[in-house]
Amino acid sequence: MKKRIFLCVMVGGMLGFLAARVVPLIVEKEKSYMKRDSQGYVKIENVQDVCAVYPKTVEEISARSEYAQKQAADLIQGILTCPQDRLSKDTVLGVYDRIVSYVQVERCVLELVKMAYADDALRQEADKQYVILQNFFMEQVESNQALYEIFKTYAQNVAPQESLSPEETRLLKTIMDDFTRAGLALSETDRLRVLELRKRCSELESIFQRLVSEDDSKLILSKEQLAGIDEAFLASLPKEGGLYVLAMNYPVQSMVMSYCTNQETRKAYYKLFANRAYPANVPVLEELIAKRNEFAQLLGFESYAQYDVANQMVKTPERAWEFENNLLPRALEKSQQEFAQLTEHLPEGIQLTADGKLERWNSGYVSTHFKKKKYSIDEHAFAEYFPMQSTIAGLISIYEQFFSVKIEQVATTGMWHEDVELLQVSKKDTGQVCGYVFLDMFPREKKYGHAAQFDGVRSLKRNGQLYPCVVTLVCNFTKPLGEKPSLLQYDEVNTFFHEFGHAMHSVLGATQYLCQAGTSTEVDFVELPSQMLENWMEEAEMLKMISSHYQTGEPLPDDLIEKRLELLKYGTGMHVARQIGLGMMSLSFFGPEGKKDLDALCQQYGKLCAPYLTYDIDTHWYCSFGHLVGYGARYYGYLWSLALGCDVFETIKEQGLLNPEVGKKYVEAILGRGGSQDANEMLKNFLGREPKYDAFYKKMGF
Ligand SMILES: [Zn+2]
Repeated sequence: MKKRIFLCVMVGGMLGFLAARVVPLIVEKEKSYMKRDSQGYVKIENVQDVCAVYPKTVEEISARSEYAQKQAADLIQGILTCPQDRLSKDTVLGVYDRIVSYVQVERCVLELVKMAYADDALRQEADKQYVILQNFFMEQVESNQALYEIFKTYAQNVAPQESLSPEETRLLKTIMDDFTRAGLALSETDRLRVLELRKRCSELESIFQRLVSEDDSKLILSKEQLAGIDEAFLASLPKEGGLYVLAMNYPVQSMVMSYCTNQETRKAYYKLFANRAYPANVPVLEELIAKRNEFAQLLGFESYAQYDVANQMVKTPERAWEFENNLLPRALEKSQQEFAQLTEHLPEGIQLTADGKLERWNSGYVSTHFKKKKYSIDEHAFAEYFPMQSTIAGLISIYEQFFSVKIEQVATTGMWHEDVELLQVSKKDTGQVCGYVFLDMFPREKKYGHAAQFDGVRSLKRNGQLYPCVVTLVCNFTKPLGEKPSLLQYDEVNTFFHEFGHAMHSVLGATQYLCQAGTSTEVDFVELPSQMLENWMEEAEMLKMISSHYQTGEPLPDDLIEKRLELLKYGTGMHVARQIGLGMMSLSFFGPEGKKDLDALCQQYGKLCAPYLTYDIDTHWYCSFGHLVGYGARYYGYLWSLALGCDVFETIKEQGLLNPEVGKKYVEAILGRGGSQDANEMLKNFLGREPKYDAFYKKMGF
């Protein structure tokens, strides 16, 4: 079930260059709220600066947004008035990057406010200012015809005479592409229509996400209806008139679907969960699809899917389809075997349908039963070896060794919730601080329900100095229950390691230009480092290292490790087939045909990729499938980068999973480059050859 969203707010292109007049950029703290250097880049020097990144009041949100727009507007004006003979990489590329830095940081911060803050007024203001900043950037930068003309002049007449580094050449190309992708090479009428459509799309994206996070569907049930669920977990649920209130979030979902013995409860929860933001999001999504297609077609693309993947590793939708189609028979063959094993001895009260299928609301429950019976794995018992605090400390020590860094907790005050903690990452050899990572680990009402890393301030290397990043991991882990500390299920351990992998990409991905820092890579590459790291959690040595029973302190015994590793070989077919289904569905949602029947498409790919499960036509889960907004047609990127990541992992494993030397090579070739190099090249440089799928097939048992 690895389908984590990674929200790295893509601010597309930006422009700007410093003009003849020097724009005053030394900023008083009262105005900017964050410490910035003379160029306007956020410069974190202590924990106080870190805490200042996230706003505390409605007034601060609007003041910061206005400030960012004002600074960016001055820089844009500077470019527009720059005399021709002063055009240079500093006055063009450099200033563009500074404009991005003003808008980007605020947008990322607002994204977090929208997704994690509890206060409605702050959330609403963040929502409003987010859209304002997005529109500002679209109108004043990406769709600014005058700015485009200056960039064209620079690219054609000046850049060839300047000694641009490969990173600068790539930055210039990306910016020019972004202008073209915003319609600036079109007639004025078409350009304005593209702008109008893109603005409406960003509004719709925001509405879609808001409706998902504000869905407050609940089930109110008696203890009998929740039979099978852990007592301590029940005790942690809110109550109304002696009944339990079940909200729609992942810990509750996982508990109900895996353990509740009452089939009616599972069915009801499944349906409600799969219908979050339905029907509210149907028109939103339909309009988004139509508008995205319309502007892609105005730009000369056949479809939004074609537009969406043109600047990715995969380059064309045809190649993405080919990748999925080639993989599907292998995945289905394995998943059919797995299904046969799974249903050999069904738990009491469960039957297959007349045509031999399993109801969807039974699949988690049957799978729990199967794991217990066949592999004697009880996830609760397993979780007892993973109390959150010591497990996170263990996971972090893996990162410390492999990446030669030191990670320590530092105290904060006044963050958005009392549960929020802060880690500081510094280089082991020099002690230089390279980044800060906030951890927001437990579910709350209105909080983003999945797991993701939220970008904030990016790591930079400027004038020989390292500028630390500030990012946040938002997760929804099992809370401490009564006497018990928070005990992480295996999937949660894996999720943390995955998300922290994104954070390390941000921390170690310092580049000269903010536009290229950290996770600003191709979207079909960005999940590679994190998915690659999940492989560490499939190694006996690592599991031993991070586990410690919450009562006895004992590490995970060998027999439980063996069972876990054996179990990991099971289910890969079903997992990959499911991911293929989601990838195909998103490619088809944004494919070239006119108005689409979303329910029919979901059903088509649901049945194709999980032929052994029923398909429930009463559910409309695409209404809460946030990837459609954030990843568009690029969901295939998860499997694409997973497959390539296995190749990288095998290459690392040969040299040692805790070997700092290989860690260093990996940072040099991949993480440390951020998005300053083509992902296909980074990969080839690290591997020393073209990537292969052999390691992926072997791991999946295909
Ligand atoms: Zn991820």
